Amino acid sequence: MDNKKYDYLIVGAGLFGAVFAHEATKAGHKVLVIDKRHHTGGNIYCENIEGINVHKYGAHIFHTSNKEVWDYVNQFVDFNHYVNSPVARYRGKLYNLPFNMNTFYQLWGVTTPSEAQAKIEEQRAPYKDIEPKNLEEQALFLGGKDLYETLIKGYTEKQWGRPATQIPSFIIKRLPFRFTFDNNYFNDLYQGIPIGGYNALTDALLEGIEVQTGVNYFEDKDIYDALAQRVLYTGKIDEFFEFQLGKLEYRSLHFETEVLDEENYQGNAVVNYTERDVPYTRILEHKHFEFGTQEKTVVTKEYPHEFSKDNEPYYPINDDVNNSLLAQYKELANKPENKEKYLFGGRLADYKYYDMDDTIEAALTLCKQELK
Ligand code: UDP
Repeated sequence: MDNKKYDYLIVGAGLFGAVFAHEATKAGHKVLVIDKRHHTGGNIYCENIEGINVHKYGAHIFHTSNKEVWDYVNQFVDFNHYVNSPVARYRGKLYNLPFNMNTFYQLWGVTTPSEAQAKIEEQRAPYKDIEPKNLEEQALFLGGKDLYETLIKGYTEKQWGRPATQIPSFIIKRLPFRFTFDNNYFNDLYQGIPIGGYNALTDALLEGIEVQTGVNYFEDKDIYDALAQRVLYTGKIDEFFEFQLGKLEYRSLHFETEVLDEENYQGNAVVNYTERDVPYTRILEHKHFEFGTQEKTVVTKEYPHEFSKDNEPYYPINDDVNNSLLAQYKELANKPENKEKYLFGGRLADYKYYDMDDTIEAALTLCKQELK
């Protein structure tokens, strides 16, 4: 083997890259991390505005049931007691999420679990024998028409930019459904926001590691590749292969952030706007992720947006067409001449709707395989 300056070049300083960089360094390897953005952390990066950590690339709430992952992140940061309890707004009325006894009371005035169950059975009756093939059918099958029309249809269609009948049903399986007065959006055992913000987590992972930001891997790919024995690539898999088999689709977002001269705008970190006519899907009020008491507040309207080369690729669209294209790219990645040099991982290279804990779990799995 020739003598390279680094054992690993890591393309992308997001969570996946940072975990791998940390573990590789700990295992005695020499690592260089590069990122085209001017900061590390990928989409968990926060910008400090008026003393508030602003989730610049959308809300990130850490939640997991994986104890290994939870213990892993807790080596680097402590977590606060934030529990995600978004509120949905539809035609001027507020509803608790996820779908629980509070929501059923707000929708139908039912006050006990048995009344709620009876109401839902009545609502589901016309759909209960279907085998759900798309998100609309899945939602109707689970909860019936009122829930679907008030809290799901408008939000989902603007989020994904297509009719709910053309969206895979697995997306809605993310929404828990319960007959207790419990507004915790997640069912996970552990949840919170890093104390000191997400940048503290990234900084701790990358401490002592050489990082270059604001550099474009593809502009100097050969030069970068020549620097290291192996390359971990965490960007878009189709872009790595120069889109030679076609483009994978994503859903993008636009954010409109404002500083408001008031202490408390909406009383909650996340308010979803489930009406179709409101162009944004949600408003974040960032201080509430950390129980902030600053004089001002920062709010962000989140607008779903078509993906193009000028936008960020936020959500992979894991329908059949894209998944089969993904399988072909994976075949390419697995060819011996590529496997010898390149590793792939993270939300964009795996083209998966990863939560942060999934990302860390996948990174640790790769570390176990790769770093002997
Ligand atoms: N969803 C919905 N109404 C809501 C919130 C979510 O119908 O008020 C649906 C929507 O289809 C969305 C999916 O649930 O794409 C997942 O939403 P979640 O908030 O879990 O995803 P995130 O965008 O935060 O990853």
